[in-house]
Amino acid sequence: MPYFINVILPIPLEKLFTYSVSDAEAKFLEPGMRVAVPFGKSKIYSALVHEVHQTPPTVYEAKEIHQILDETPLVTKTQIKHWTWIANYYMCSIGEVFRTAVPSAFLLESETLILRNTKFEPEESELLDDEFLVYEALQHQSILRVHEISAILDKKTILPVLNRLLDKNIIVLKEEVYEQYKPKMVRYVRLGNQYLSEEKLEALLKSLTRAKKQTQVVLSLFQLQAISKKPIKVSELEEASKSSSAIIKTLIDKNILEEYFIQTDRVVYSKDDENSDLKDLNEYQQEALAVIKENFTQKKPTLLHGVTSSGKTEVYVKLIENCLKTGKQALYLLPEIALTTQLISRLQEYFGEKVAVYHSKYSVQERVEVWNNVLANKSKAQIVIGARSALFMPFKLLGLIIVDEEHESSFKQYDPAPRYHARDAAIVLANFHDGNILLGSATPSLETFYNVQVGKYGYASILRRFGDVLMPDIELVDIKEQSRKKRMKGHFSERLFNEINETLENGEQVILFQNRRGFAPIVECTTCGNSPQCPNCDVSLTYHQYKKQLRCHYCGYHIALPLACDACGSPTLDTKGFGTEQIEQELQKLYPEAKVGRMDLDTTRGKYGYEKIITAFEQQELDILVGTQMLTKGLDFRNVSLVGIMNADTLLNFPDFRAHERSFQLLTQVAGRAGRTKKRGKVLIQSYNPYHQILKQVSTGDFEGMYKEQLYERQQHKYPPVNRILKITFKHKDYNKINEAAEWFTKGLRNSFGVHVLGPEFPPVARIRNQYLKHVLIKIPNGQSLAKTKNSIKRIEKSFNAISQYASVRVIYNVDYI
Ligand code: ADP
Ligand code: ZN
Ligand code: ZN
Repeated sequence: MPYFINVILPIPLEKLFTYSVSDAEAKFLEPGMRVAVPFGKSKIYSALVHEVHQTPPTVYEAKEIHQILDETPLVTKTQIKHWTWIANYYMCSIGEVFRTAVPSAFLLESETLILRNTKFEPEESELLDDEFLVYEALQHQSILRVHEISAILDKKTILPVLNRLLDKNIIVLKEEVYEQYKPKMVRYVRLGNQYLSEEKLEALLKSLTRAKKQTQVVLSLFQLQAISKKPIKVSELEEASKSSSAIIKTLIDKNILEEYFIQTDRVVYSKDDENSDLKDLNEYQQEALAVIKENFTQKKPTLLHGVTSSGKTEVYVKLIENCLKTGKQALYLLPEIALTTQLISRLQEYFGEKVAVYHSKYSVQERVEVWNNVLANKSKAQIVIGARSALFMPFKLLGLIIVDEEHESSFKQYDPAPRYHARDAAIVLANFHDGNILLGSATPSLETFYNVQVGKYGYASILRRFGDVLMPDIELVDIKEQSRKKRMKGHFSERLFNEINETLENGEQVILFQNRRGFAPIVECTTCGNSPQCPNCDVSLTYHQYKKQLRCHYCGYHIALPLACDACGSPTLDTKGFGTEQIEQELQKLYPEAKVGRMDLDTTRGKYGYEKIITAFEQQELDILVGTQMLTKGLDFRNVSLVGIMNADTLLNFPDFRAHERSFQLLTQVAGRAGRTKKRGKVLIQSYNPYHQILKQVSTGDFEGMYKEQLYERQQHKYPPVNRILKITFKHKDYNKINEAAEWFTKGLRNSFGVHVLGPEFPPVARIRNQYLKHVLIKIPNGQSLAKTKNSIKRIEKSFNAISQYASVRVIYNVDYI
């Protein structure tokens, strides 16, 4: 009897595909190994073996595989089980999950672009013949496709050669040509070499006698160096000498001090490096820990609800330590890894080289390395820390998952499929491993808190900040009234203006939050009312003053600011609304002495984007930081005593059923950046509607009140967490066709689900990159079978696809849409 294998192809195919293999191959192959297989007319893919069997396919003749690519499985059985769950739950193919889950180096296929690794000169004599041919070809032509290499070598089975070349660092794949992840650099200082002897130092101090502050800095540095051999951060020196960064800079300019940089993450730990001891928990942390452990004995997912700066991280650390003691691996999921170098170094201090970071910005080789370490359960990868895709690592024995900032919407993948929620998929994964899972947040999502209320999840809380630091004092400022009384300076109320002044005078820092980037969201002609639109999207262009440009935030289209109105020709274009850029400019006028920085998508795009700005602010080279919601993400700045929210109204008025919950979370998190050390922080929230219920709840820290009210709203309108929702998006470039197609599909849905179907409707921005979008929302009552619901939808899709004029309309499912 002949043998066959079913494989997962990394493409959106609904079914597994069957290939034939020899007896010997069948004996060798196991699920989770890769094979190179032909597909379609001329394509070659790396596919994953799902099972070996003896049943020939009925509707097609099984082709032979090209080659076996692995000697042992690269993917575990638990992973395949988990991926299958994701594919079923989120309505996509397991091939799409496979494609997202593994590093792209595992997915070599005929269309992959191959380049020579220019940073590496191989010893040519050590290359095998076929390797040399590829290497040589890449000297003449900088980019080759896999099928071109196949022609050069005159054979079909070339993926093994390419895998070898990848291992030997001789080639790289195209995606790596894009910007590489760069580590964060921290600025340190030391005394210039020439002053190291005592006499020289004395002479130096003498020469500085009239510069008191500079003398103080030099003396402090000298003392710090005497106490410890550790490098001294600029910020430490500033604190110790009670001076400013300007004075230190003067000394650097005079060559008395030297500055140098050390990267803070991706530190290589040697084996005998001593790890720092874990901190002793205070009574509140201990209590929370005990409750969590109790819930874990019942294998209950548990929420740790701790206010900002309550010391949640230290509790996580204890749990990780316990988990490692049992010989199991731990996974730490974060919403966005770019902003978390602070946390990574904290974990590395405790656990040294046991911490592995899985980062989409790391090179393919580094990602492959982490994958292999986790798969082999090496000591180097006992703790994996990463954003949502770290969920796909090949864990052997996963004892603990921590989902930090579980309320963050970036845990949900939006595009492409699988459109999974990492928090929810992590709960399933923990269950498959018989492990534990902790969700942490200062502002839990309604979904999670609801699960606590109905008894599905356990609950632990820490209601005060660590070290008896007070929660910030939050004050609402009525800007409607201030405007009426003509008390506004630009977008600043008198209150905020004075508070900033005072904070700066005290030598403390300010964070200002404005949720729009650019200078002004809209440019409008005051004569005819026309405002310039993006030609590719149905949206007004945003004005960016720095570049004197109008830009589209959806597709990147941009033009120079026109001198006159396109519609009527009058030179009367004016701006409406305001963004971070405008705030930055107003600040420079209002506080000419202050150093102002801005953190938004526009300023963080470049190479060291985030790191530069965060480090500058951390080291107090900036006095005021203006930014969008990037500011909310878990940053721990010590010297910030004032946080200002320029305008809370745009958040609250956003057309989405989650807008109020989001506003509460965002404002509470931004407020949490204030006063994280001894002195009580101050938060000012400007609004035209300061009596808004959500603002009151934010200012009093009334999470439960917010939860009750929002839950009531959701119950009234049958939204999550009391119902599930599934969003279907139709996408096509033709306006009439999308209307017809969406109407047809929705009729089918209405037949099955009646009033639970909403739409079809155009979203607020109905056309993006020349593609029209139309949405339908299906509400699925708790208790109605999700599987049956999805099957009915799939049946409707089948009939829909059979209609030839709709074949080109894309149908996109988003289960548990966020
Ligand atoms: P959260 O994650 O809840 O916002 P963190 O874990 O960042 O809070 O803790 C806030 C601050 O308190 C940090 O600077 C942390 O080092 C400190 N801290 C927390 N717990 C302890 C502890 N048990 N002993 C000493 N310092 C602690
Ligand atoms: Zn006009
Ligand atoms: Zn556009």
